[in-house]
Amino acid sequence: MNTRRSFLQQLTTAAITLPLLSFEECTDAPQADVPYDGPVLRVAIMGLGGYGTRVADAMQACKKAKLVGVISGTPAKVKAWQTKYNIPEKNCYNYDNFDNIRNNPDIDAVYVITPNALHHPQVLRVAKAGKHVICEKPMALNAKEGQEMVDACKKANVKLLVGYRMHFEPKTLEIVRMRKAGEFGKVLFFQGLSGFRIGDPTQWRLNKQLAGGGSMMDIGIYSINGTRYMLGEEPIWVTAQETKTDKEKFKEGVDETIQFQMGFPSGAVASCLSTYAMSNLDRFFLDGVNGYAELQPSTGYGPIKGRTHKGELTQPHNTHQTVQMEEMAGIILEGKQPEIPVDGEEGLRDLKIIDAIYEACKTGKRIDLK
Ligand code: NDP
Repeated sequence: MNTRRSFLQQLTTAAITLPLLSFEECTDAPQADVPYDGPVLRVAIMGLGGYGTRVADAMQACKKAKLVGVISGTPAKVKAWQTKYNIPEKNCYNYDNFDNIRNNPDIDAVYVITPNALHHPQVLRVAKAGKHVICEKPMALNAKEGQEMVDACKKANVKLLVGYRMHFEPKTLEIVRMRKAGEFGKVLFFQGLSGFRIGDPTQWRLNKQLAGGGSMMDIGIYSINGTRYMLGEEPIWVTAQETKTDKEKFKEGVDETIQFQMGFPSGAVASCLSTYAMSNLDRFFLDGVNGYAELQPSTGYGPIKGRTHKGELTQPHNTHQTVQMEEMAGIILEGKQPEIPVDGEEGLRDLKIIDAIYEACKTGKRIDLK
């Protein structure tokens, strides 16, 4: 059966079939032999599912970020994580009592890795408890919720970051550097293809109440976000068209496939595809007057592969979640500024575009963005 996991495995065949790269081979990965005695971000993960587990494992290689707590609805998982990651009982919470985290001085931040619809209420509660928040994508189900989350974190004086791991990926950053340096000349076109064949029809990703939509919320968001960081501009309009080949599996409000287009102030346009019905879709292409860049795969767990008119991109692979957590610790604890933002405002920009895409699908009209 095809699932998101098998999709990611397809994208990362090389990573899985080749021996795992050592940390020395990973550019930005923390150097095991260099002692670190700076500040450490102590993190509790909320939602011990597939991605939460991946983040927890990757964090074991971090120096600036440490997994110290869990919030979960499944006591058996809590026990297993306590043993595996040496997590003390006093740092374990469930969804009813995690507001008490406010009285726990040993936790600095909570990483919310639950189904999409839960992000909004959970982030509001974490902010109220006075802890920094890292929230998975999509940050919320719509821009209204996203704005409330940004406002709540501002009011509580805590940071809100979104798990945009590609913002720290070396080949991605090289293309952004080249674009900023003018190496592609004027860029007028971007294409983003994001999709996989989703399996199990009972999973929360196909449940509108928990997912908030379909492929667009889950995987199409990579093309939206990628268009913005690759072009370095915010869209001023969108158009979108939805198609559905399986109305049984993709119920009302759960999009199977959406094609969408965006227009930018410079005159550049983007053409993107988001789908839960097709394989082999993980590709970015940027075209400028003097050159081009291509990433394929572009947003899987890696290794990311890419080339430009100047040749293959050779930046080494890193474990995205390790580097993301190191960098996010720097942002939260030291006020570091990432090359591509990962804050709540950044998450909100994507949500505004998602709102507009759904409206464009419904009305058939071009939607202007402020
Ligand atoms: P999973 O279904 O694997 O895990 C979600 C976890 O959330 C569950 O294991 C459960 O943990 C908890 N949970 C709480 N309430 C519910 C509920 N009502 N239904 C189901 N689970 C619940 O999902 P993923 O880990 O794949 O995805 C979680 C989030 O991470 C999503 O927002 C997704 O978009 C994002 N994600 C991001 C990726 C990235 O590359 N940045 C990749 C994959 C996912 P517990 O039993 O501990 O309560």
